[in-house]
Amino acid sequence: MVAALADFKAAGKEVQMADPRSYYFDLPARQRPNDVKINEEWFPDIKPAALRTSKSRGRDPIKGVKTVVIHATAGSSSAGAASVIFNGKASFHWLVPDENEPQHGHFVWATCYESRAAYHVRKSVFHPKINSGQKDINRISLGIEIVNAQLSSDTFSDWQVEATAVIVRYAWAKYPNLENVVSHAMLDPSRRTDPGSNFPWGRFKRLVLDAKEEPTSTLVAMARTTLASEPAGSCCMDRRGSAAETV
Ligand SMILES: [Zn+2]
Repeated sequence: MVAALADFKAAGKEVQMADPRSYYFDLPARQRPNDVKINEEWFPDIKPAALRTSKSRGRDPIKGVKTVVIHATAGSSSAGAASVIFNGKASFHWLVPDENEPQHGHFVWATCYESRAAYHVRKSVFHPKINSGQKDINRISLGIEIVNAQLSSDTFSDWQVEATAVIVRYAWAKYPNLENVVSHAMLDPSRRTDPGSNFPWGRFKRLVLDAKEEPTSTLVAMARTTLASEPAGSCCMDRRGSAAETV
């Protein structure tokens, strides 16, 4: 879909763009779901690379998980995003396919062992709301990458938002100390803007906090299709569009 920004400007209306640096919400313990399933498939042949491009959490891999970080790839394909794991440059736990990929509407890719700390946030960054302001957020987090070009013309599909929300609900049910959900942009505002202004954080938050708010098509899809093969790209590019400097 093409964003309607130009239309708003033409009509002389004020457009208040969402600021991804503000994307954050808490996960209240009293609302924790009991058991949530996700439709996921391991990205082909990625397990050895995922093991190399990750580290021990250095703590209980269930009790030690406290936050989920939402990213967007700044690329156009799952294969391009996954290439950073194969290349040892960065890693993340799940990858949500784009509209033009055969997996879209069916399942998300698992791209790193949940028990391992993936490399999706710079080690030096911190935020007072995340793990009492301690650094090395990768040790205590799960990372979700959504395939999106991070251009005003590239909106997120409903399914991408729903699938991402279901992953968070799955994690919320599984990890008893999961406290919050945060954007990469909020954690590293000088270098990152993902998942970007087009990501509908409000709707995403409602889907996470109240699964009954809107139906999730994610739960009913079962199809299996072949992986689209495309040239490698980078995930989490910076705002200048240059290749990601590790994360
Ligand atoms: Zn990111």
